[in-house]
Amino acid sequence: MECPKCSGELETKTHGDDIKLESCRACYGLLVKGFILEKMREEFMAETFLDIGSASIGKKFDKIEDIQCPHCKVDMDMIVDPQQTHIGMECCPSCDRIFLDAGEFSDLKYKTFSDKIKALLKGRRN
Ligand SMILES: [Zn+2]
Ligand SMILES: [Zn+2]
Repeated sequence: MECPKCSGELETKTHGDDIKLESCRACYGLLVKGFILEKMREEFMAETFLDIGSASIGKKFDKIEDIQCPHCKVDMDMIVDPQQTHIGMECCPSCDRIFLDAGEFSDLKYKTFSDKIKALLKGRRN
């Protein structure tokens, strides 16, 4: 299958028992189902195995916004993470797959983790 951003080849990757996604060999973008992305955010160190591209490559490809889902051939919608609105992702309205540029998953995950610590500290103070 072809990467919607750079026409590189998407290869299927698995991590643990229930994480399965597609990763581009050229731009290191990730194509992943919404519910699996949630699992990846909870999985310890998942980003070091799955999000191997550098953020600078991702930034370059992040500018490409008009992409089509390679599975459904429909235009993907731009969405932002509700907690981290600087992270823009493309989402397929038909199959619920999300495209993340290289580095975006690490960004999502790292901030989520530090936000959790902040919430914990806040809780302690009260
Ligand atoms: Zn690509
Ligand atoms: Zn789709």
